[in-house]
Amino acid sequence: MMRIGHGYDVHRLVEGRRLILGGVEVPYRLGLLGHSDADVLLHAICDAILGALGCGDIGQHFPDNDPAFAGIASSKLLTRTVDLARENGYVVGNLDATIIAQQPKLAPYLEAMVGHIASVCEAPAGRINVKATTTEQLGFPGRGEGIAAHAVVLLTRS
Ligand code: MG
Repeated sequence: MMRIGHGYDVHRLVEGRRLILGGVEVPYRLGLLGHSDADVLLHAICDAILGALGCGDIGQHFPDNDPAFAGIASSKLLTRTVDLARENGYVVGNLDATIIAQQPKLAPYLEAMVGHIASVCEAPAGRINVKATTTEQLGFPGRGEGIAAHAVVLLTRS
């Protein structure tokens, strides 16, 4: 009746790109590089849902060499992933995610991310949790070279 999945993703921070996290634009001098809008948090969530469904990963469903997905808002990828879950008889029961970034400070934007993710997943906001942590300046996130995200999702029968 329940299925659990985990997702992890990393994108590089570069100049000349907007920083989109959880569907929310975060003001910063750098943005994430990728074929889509490179929303690392939504990618991790898509992978967690696909994992719970036993349906592979985001790269199989939305290939990064397919022009159809160039510059696409990752919210659309999440919408399609949630639709796939529903077609398989599942909805998002609850979801917990962690963004790993040294900068910028994300606390002021977490609530908006939760609201956006809840809306796309058609789940109550109280069942969606988004956290952010630094790595105490250790490793690639700590050096500001990129941002990572983990997500765990529980799907329940619709
Ligand atoms: Mg990605």
